[in-house]
Amino acid sequence: MKAPSVLHLDIDAFFAAVEETLEPALRGKPLIIGGLAHERGVVCTASYAARRFGVHSGMALRTAAKKCPQAVFRRGRYHLYSRISQQFFACLRRFSPRVEEVSIDEAYVDLGGSRYLCRSVYELAARIKAAAERETGLKISAGLGCTRLGAKLACEAAKPGGLFWLHDEAEFISHLTLDKIPGVGPQTYFVLQGLGVRRGRELQTKYPALWRKVFAGQYAGGMERRRPEPASRSFSRETTFPEDIREQGMLCSHLAYLLDRLAVQLLREGLYAGRVEVKVRFSDFSTFTQRAGLPFPTYSYFHLWQGALPLLRSLLAKRDLPLRLIGAKVEELQAGRDILPFFSLRDEKMTAAIAGVKERFGFSSLRSARSMLLEELYPVEREGMVLKTASLTK
Ligand SMILES: [Mg+2]
Repeated sequence: MKAPSVLHLDIDAFFAAVEETLEPALRGKPLIIGGLAHERGVVCTASYAARRFGVHSGMALRTAAKKCPQAVFRRGRYHLYSRISQQFFACLRRFSPRVEEVSIDEAYVDLGGSRYLCRSVYELAARIKAAAERETGLKISAGLGCTRLGAKLACEAAKPGGLFWLHDEAEFISHLTLDKIPGVGPQTYFVLQGLGVRRGRELQTKYPALWRKVFAGQYAGGMERRRPEPASRSFSRETTFPEDIREQGMLCSHLAYLLDRLAVQLLREGLYAGRVEVKVRFSDFSTFTQRAGLPFPTYSYFHLWQGALPLLRSLLAKRDLPLRLIGAKVEELQAGRDILPFFSLRDEKMTAAIAGVKERFGFSSLRSARSMLLEELYPVEREGMVLKTASLTK
């Protein structure tokens, strides 16, 4: 049997767990992070005690409050979470040079080159998990597999707090219902159900080409990626307003702020965006998005803004209503680019210089004037505004 070489780790109920560590009285109680019960916005993390009442992340806070009236609600301290997240990844990097951060609390670790650190890969995995738990002070679930998919599924099964090793991945997956398989989104699941396919095994035998397509590289050995990476990657940020907003200046201010954050993120990761998307949700909950290609791949805040502003204007014309949410997304990310139009350099250098200052003195040290109106609405902290709903990324 092939030795497993991929370890997937996931911190359990991350934000809630951090709050519980800092405030032990919260332990075991239903705890919801994302906002207060009467506020708008969504649940970012629910503790396991809250999940038992049917609360899950992404659910509207008010719905969560109905399902679990006794829950404790907290707005969340995102700078703190991101600091712990960095400790988590730093710990993993001591054991392997190849660590892939999937989200703030999730990572894949390639054990291929590190397996001789211990007598067995399983022992090594247990050691990594224990070290990460000790250093973050949090419970972490872990899964070992020969493929990313196998490791991820093992980790799901190990929650909360366990370490699983999936011995026979193909066999395990063939018995799973498709909605349990990462990579099968709600739409694919819906289509497959229509074809009478419910389990992995049926998909494999009836539609082998589709099976390969759904799993593409996910099923490849080791740390191989799911898909050719850049096409599927995007960064997005969005926020729900404390009150519906109609005034265009204020809406533009929000958009500018979100784009500012995205530009810094692109620069930090060394990526160029080929397309920008704007999302709006009106007070009647109708939601629209529009996207536009950028003239060339870029990380420049100024070009993102030029691409996004017309989109916002055209979206606002769709309804004569105030907005409750605005979002921005950069897509078609790529690590390099062929064409470098001369005129782009100045704006990019400016974005890079601004990002340098932010890196050193905090995100808020240098802000676009367009986003200044936001100071009327939100407190400003060193690392940014304290928006209603934490910006969601990746
Ligand atoms: Mg988690």
